[in-house]
Amino acid sequence: MSELLMVEQRQGSGDAAFWVREGERLIEGQDSNLRLVELRAGLVRHSGVRPVEADAADEEVQRTLEALHEAEYLRALAELSSEEPVVMPDFAPPGLDPDIPVNKALVAAAREGIRTSITAAERVLEGARFTYAVCRPPGHHAGPAFHAGYCYLNNAAAAVRRLSDGGVKPVGIVDLDLHYPNGTSALVERMGSIAALHSLHAAPVTNLPPGTPLPRIAGERAVAFAESPDEDVYLEEVAHSIHELSEIARALVVSLGYDTVAGDPHGGWSFRPEIFTEVGRLLARSGLPVCVIQEGGYALDELAACSHAFATGLLGGE
Ligand SMILES: [Zn+2]
Repeated sequence: MSELLMVEQRQGSGDAAFWVREGERLIEGQDSNLRLVELRAGLVRHSGVRPVEADAADEEVQRTLEALHEAEYLRALAELSSEEPVVMPDFAPPGLDPDIPVNKALVAAAREGIRTSITAAERVLEGARFTYAVCRPPGHHAGPAFHAGYCYLNNAAAAVRRLSDGGVKPVGIVDLDLHYPNGTSALVERMGSIAALHSLHAAPVTNLPPGTPLPRIAGERAVAFAESPDEDVYLEEVAHSIHELSEIARALVVSLGYDTVAGDPHGGWSFRPEIFTEVGRLLARSGLPVCVIQEGGYALDELAACSHAFATGLLGGE
């Protein structure tokens, strides 16, 4: 039976999200280390899952960040010296208002998320078929010089970068989080032929300036659903994307969000956790190495069921 390497993030402290603005509403932060505990618990219930430490070198983390994010942005984050949360309007997504604050501890957690994601990519370079970065905060709303939606540094883009630097390219990115990956899209735009991005997400998309046409860039596939789709309809679109990407890519990076399940505090869709068994099966059938990066998913009571269902589909039932 295949094996899934579960990459465990180094644990920080005092690094839970403070709040996030959704439209006019200020919502208490839902992203904390409790999410990682639940995600890991679900994964290790499968006997094919093997935990490994996030051990990518500091230099590799720094090198990758400098390749993705603008120097001025990285410098501003590095200069945060206090636990006091601050809003940085200069680093909101272009055309949008800032929606999250940041502090020193959150930047440290985001860097550990990058280390975790790079480690997942490095294990693929070493020959692993399946790896899963159990990381937080999520990354797919973080762009070259902006942060939003709990995301400060882009984990999926870091994995893509590490894979391509190691000779595995092009990379297909499948983003299955509820939300459109505005940050990943902006970074992929700068990567040229290294990566292609496919996203399935809820409409209307609120993390781009109103009226922005999708797909944003050549080679991108953007599938929007105005309301919670039928699970079979959604899975057909997932299968379509995986098939298309497997024709051109040498590895898949999956931005996996569980905020599509019923009861998610940032959600609105009504998927059952079991849908991720079929998602895992489709990825396994691609024949490609699969590097999973955790994005959203905030219904703490459901996360273990989601990650377990995913591992079961990817590795086979028990
Ligand atoms: Zn999301």
